[in-house]
Amino acid sequence: MTLLKAVPALGIGRSLYQNLGRYFKPEKLKLSFTFQAKYLGMSPWECPALFTMLPYIEHAYGVEHVMGGLNQISEAMARVVKEHGGKIHLSCPVRSLVLDGRRVTGVLLESGETVAADEVIINADFAHAMSHLVPKGKLKKYTPKKLAKKQYSCSTFMLYLGVEGKLPLDHHTIFFAKDYKSNLHDISTRKVLSNDISFYIQNASVTDPSLAPEGKSALYILVPAPNQSGSVDWAAEKESFKNHVLDLVVERTGIKDLRSRIVVERVITPLNWEQDGLIYQGATFNLAHTFSQLLYLRPRNKFEELDHCYLVGGGTHPGSGLPTIYESARISSNLLCKKHGVPFPPVPALPAKA
Ligand SMILES: Cc1cc2nc3c(=O)[nH]c(=O)nc-3n(C[C@H](O)[C@H](O)[C@H](O)COP(=O)(O)OP(=O)(O)OC[C@H]3O[C@@H](n4cnc5c(N)ncnc54)[C@H](O)[C@@H]3O)c2cc1C
Repeated sequence: MTLLKAVPALGIGRSLYQNLGRYFKPEKLKLSFTFQAKYLGMSPWECPALFTMLPYIEHAYGVEHVMGGLNQISEAMARVVKEHGGKIHLSCPVRSLVLDGRRVTGVLLESGETVAADEVIINADFAHAMSHLVPKGKLKKYTPKKLAKKQYSCSTFMLYLGVEGKLPLDHHTIFFAKDYKSNLHDISTRKVLSNDISFYIQNASVTDPSLAPEGKSALYILVPAPNQSGSVDWAAEKESFKNHVLDLVVERTGIKDLRSRIVVERVITPLNWEQDGLIYQGATFNLAHTFSQLLYLRPRNKFEELDHCYLVGGGTHPGSGLPTIYESARISSNLLCKKHGVPFPPVPALPAKA
C-alpha cells in the first residue's frame, strides 16, 4: 500500500540521470549525484529514477562508519545468535540442498554430513546457489539457461593497501573518469577495461584508528569493472591493470611516493569474486535492478520454487546493497516468525527530514 502511494513520485520510465536533470542543470553537479548508482553496480543512464533516493538519503541523513569495519555488524549479530543458544558453524561449505519433491529437508555438507532442517535460509549468492546447490531438474523459473539470460550488475577490481604514514585523503574520495559515460558504457555494455577509469578511495583510518597499526593507513581502492560475462582475461590483465590503477591514484591524489610506502597489498579481481567469492559472473552487486528485476520481480524471500526455503541477500527482495540486504534478512525472519507463531517487533519508521 505504501509503495502504491509512492508510485507517482518514483519517476517510472525515467533513469536516475534523467531524474537528476529535473533538479540540477550543470552537468558536473548532476554527475556528482549519480555515483550512488554504483552501489547497485549500475550505470545512472540505466538505473531507474526511484534510486534517486540513494543520493537523497546520503545527503539528508548523512553517511555512517562502523568502528572496526562492517564485519562488526556480523560479529554483533553472531553474539545475539549465541546469546539465544544458537550455534554458528564456519568453514563447512554446503554441497547441495536435500529435497523431498519440492520440499527442502536439509543440506548436504562438503564433508558428506547431512544436516536435517525444518526451514532452510539461503544467503549464498542467488544465481550461484540455484546453479550449484539445487539438484538438476528441480527448478523451472530459475534453470541455468534462464539465469544466464538475466541481467547482472557490474563487478569490482579491488586494491587493499597497507601504507606507511598518514595520507592527505579524506575518509571517502570518488574520482570520476574524464569521460564517465564512456567509462560506464565500457563496464556495462562493451564489458571491456577502460583506460580512463573511475575509482573510489576509502581512507577510513582517518576516522577509525583501529583499522591500521599506529602510524600507518589502510587504503581501499575500488574500481568498477565489467562482470565476468565479458571476455576480460584477468590472469593476463591483473598486474598491468593494478599498475594502471596505481598510476592514476598517484596522478590524481598527488601522493607521489605512494608505491614506495606500500607495506602490504591484496588484489581482488572479478575472476576472484566469481571463483573464490562464489558470486555468479563475479557480479558483486547481484541481479541488476532493471524494471523487470525490481522489488517483487526479484526472487521471493519465501522462495517460490521450493518449500521450506527462504532467501536473504542481494539476489532477493528488496535488493542489493547492505541496508537492503539486512532488510531482506528482516523480511525473511519475520515471515518465518509469522509461520511459526513467534512474535517479532514492528519496524519503526525512519524519522522524517525537512
Ligand atoms: C567491494 C565491494 C564493496 C561494496 N560496498 C558496499 C557499500 O559500501 N555499501 C553497500 O551497501 N553495499 C556494498 N557492497 C555490496 C554488498 O556489500 C554486497 O553485495 C553484500 O556483501 C552481499 O551480501 P550477501 O549477503 O548477498 O552475499 P555475500 O556477502 O556474498 O554472502 C554470501 C556468503 O555465502 C557464502 N557461500 C556461498 N556458497 C556457499 C556454500 N555452498 N556453502 C556455504 N557458504 C556459501 C559465501 O562464502 C559468502 O560468505 C559492496 C560489495 C563489494 C564487493
